[in-house]
Amino acid sequence: QPANFYRPTFAQIDLNALQMNILNLKKHIGPAVDVIAVVKANAYGHGDFEVSTAAVKAGASMLAVATPDEAIRLRASGIESPILVMGASPPSFAVTASQNDIMLTVFQTDWFLHIPALPNMLKIHIKIDTGMGRLGVTTESELSTLIQTINHRQDVVIDGVFTHFATADDEDVVQYTSQLEKFKTFLHCFPERPRCIHTANSAAALMHKESLFDAVRYGISMYGLSPSAYVDQGLPFPLERVMSLHTEVVHVKKVPAGSSISYGATYTADEDEWIATLPIGYADGMLRGLSGQEVLIQGKRLPVIGRICMDQCMVRLNGHVSIGEPVVLIGRQGNEQVNIEEWAQKLQTISYEIPCVLTNRVPRTYT
Ligand code: PLP
Repeated sequence: QPANFYRPTFAQIDLNALQMNILNLKKHIGPAVDVIAVVKANAYGHGDFEVSTAAVKAGASMLAVATPDEAIRLRASGIESPILVMGASPPSFAVTASQNDIMLTVFQTDWFLHIPALPNMLKIHIKIDTGMGRLGVTTESELSTLIQTINHRQDVVIDGVFTHFATADDEDVVQYTSQLEKFKTFLHCFPERPRCIHTANSAAALMHKESLFDAVRYGISMYGLSPSAYVDQGLPFPLERVMSLHTEVVHVKKVPAGSSISYGATYTADEDEWIATLPIGYADGMLRGLSGQEVLIQGKRLPVIGRICMDQCMVRLNGHVSIGEPVVLIGRQGNEQVNIEEWAQKLQTISYEIPCVLTNRVPRTYT
């Protein structure tokens, strides 16, 4: 455990595992297809600078973020690799983007009305909405107008074109296939083939070879998680888990039968019980819905009882443990494991959401 924080609560990020997930993907997709490491949302909560650095070392040729500010943050931290902003950027960002070699996603011709002559070449990736219904050009005529507008400018170049699948992680391929076919017809609108054509997210990269084109946008599975239970059953290689979450017992007591624990007194001890207090709560991302979730202490699963507080929660023990006893909230201890999918199920959400909602108060440590 590193010494630069006092509270013993931290997320451990295994960058070797992350790199294995990239190297295995590269083997799977072959040398002709590039890996774009998706590091938006602080690298899905794992730390954008550290993940970007490790991903590039493992062979990712490009990074992708959601917002202009995320791209600027990476540049400010010294990341020099190509960066694509996949979300909408305001026209007011164009000058800064061109100066910082940040590639932008564009899908509206009018976006260029507000762009002054740029100091440096601006690289654009055009987004096509083939059925996700979120961002992108929806008709071929819109696309042709957009391409012409860009081609009339000396300071803007079309570097790429892409789309995003809504259902690539489903067993049912009807929508996925329709999106892919629509995308291919849109490609005919380009007088010159853009350098980088990309469609695949993790699910498509793992499951659908015909979606690979020039590059894949690798997000969730770079972090060792399956996009869905369906993809998990058909993984072409095992994913290595990247994030684990740790704390230590800070208080232990034996309470008499009938004692209540935490806000609302929703939990009452049936008998004399040993209770531990853990220094992690909903302000860290251990959301209140996780009451009842098990944690690992001395290799055993033990339940969080009563309401989870902002900074702390309580666990029912089988007997006395020492102050400072290590606790694994997510990860492995001995022969037991609590994984992110288990938290997601408890919270009735998807595994993507779990690392993203671990707040800044939880230090990330790297191995
Ligand atoms: N491409 C786009 C446009 C995205 O928004 C995302 C993230 O949701 C990804 C790629 C990466 O997807 P995944 O995390 O499922 O690999």
